[in-house]
Amino acid sequence: MSRPNSQDRNLRERADKVIPGGMFGHQSTRLLPDDYPQFFSRAKGARLWDADGNELLDFMCAYGPNLMGYADDAIDNAYVTRMRQGDTMTGPTGLIVDLAEQMTALVTHADWAIFCKNGGDATQIALMIARAHTGRNTVILARGAYHGAAPWCATRPVGVTPGEKANQVFCDYNDIASLEAAAAQAGDDLAAIFAAPMKHDTFTDQALPDPAYARRARDLCDAAGALLVVDDVRAGLRIARDCSWSTVGVQPDLSSWGKCFANGHPISALLGSEVARRAAGRIFTTGSFWYQAAPMAAALETLRRVRETDYLEHIEGLGERLRRGLAERAAAAGLGLRQTGPVTMPLFLFEDDPDLRQGFFWSSEMLRRGVYVHPWHNMFLCAAMTTGDIDQALDAAEGSFKALRGQLGSLGPVEKLSFLTA
Ligand code: PMP
Repeated sequence: MSRPNSQDRNLRERADKVIPGGMFGHQSTRLLPDDYPQFFSRAKGARLWDADGNELLDFMCAYGPNLMGYADDAIDNAYVTRMRQGDTMTGPTGLIVDLAEQMTALVTHADWAIFCKNGGDATQIALMIARAHTGRNTVILARGAYHGAAPWCATRPVGVTPGEKANQVFCDYNDIASLEAAAAQAGDDLAAIFAAPMKHDTFTDQALPDPAYARRARDLCDAAGALLVVDDVRAGLRIARDCSWSTVGVQPDLSSWGKCFANGHPISALLGSEVARRAAGRIFTTGSFWYQAAPMAAALETLRRVRETDYLEHIEGLGERLRRGLAERAAAAGLGLRQTGPVTMPLFLFEDDPDLRQGFFWSSEMLRRGVYVHPWHNMFLCAAMTTGDIDQALDAAEGSFKALRGQLGSLGPVEKLSFLTA
């Protein structure tokens, strides 16, 4: 728990009274080590300052949105300039057309775009379009994959009716036989296969997509006349300057985007190919803030950087340096560290650590050394990071591995994660 009389502690005490559970959703620190700050005051580049003014090199990047660096001058200037000229208005500006043109030019499969606010809006629209296009109900999802917090895909059953979860069949990611079995179960009611671009579930090793699995998903959709959806909300633009499954040579019919394409400004998108255009025009979908011009101005500047700079190669290089350096330092400390997923979106789990007691201890040690890592969710690199930042993280990791090595025998269970080993 944060220090007594700290800003963080004071804010938590006030929040407990006026915010359910003290904080809701993915930004609650309920399942993080006790010393993790709940509240922050500012961010610039690759760094965050918590509510007590502690500076942290941030490997969470706001859970993805920070792609080019927090408070990026050019992107934020585009946002602020547009905001001052009119943002939420009675109709959209021409920027919505510019942005749709830019995104469909960038993403190979895409011929049209619908803009919304959160990733969950985009996945919800994808589901509706698939059902409108096919006149069928059933969707195939991979067990453990996250597609948002709406009732149909909520990860907790509380407040959700069985009806809202109906017409779903599950497979295991990268397991072709289970995908085929799911398609057989859906039979002639298959509307869509929803695919994560990679396995990026929490608490477990990540996995890149097996090209054969991705191809099989495409073939099964084609055979059934169903739509293939790739949910690129989290991984978009950190694996490719295109839909992430372009790296395995598979084009979906729909792809959902969010988080980072306006570098943290609120906008998401559902992109679709020609085949789904008619259904996309028939569903009713909208929101009071979906047409805001300022996030679109920020998105256009972010996409310019995506096209014209080596941001992706830069974060890949940094990610490789981090992965190599951590592997060397963990091995030198005699610790087994599993680093999975693309280097731009790493996840670290320790060997023989089913209840994450090692991961929790190590993450707290990193925090004490000014580096914010996550013990069970994939992390993100941003283009504002430098080799100096990676070396700072590696220095912190070296000290943290040594501290962990010294305490290995005496670590107690992490009670808040007891569900992992129950
Ligand atoms: N899909 C994926 C793969 C995600 O990671 C997320 C958010 N973490 C969502 C959908 C939902 O996005 P949002 O929280 O912006 O609604």
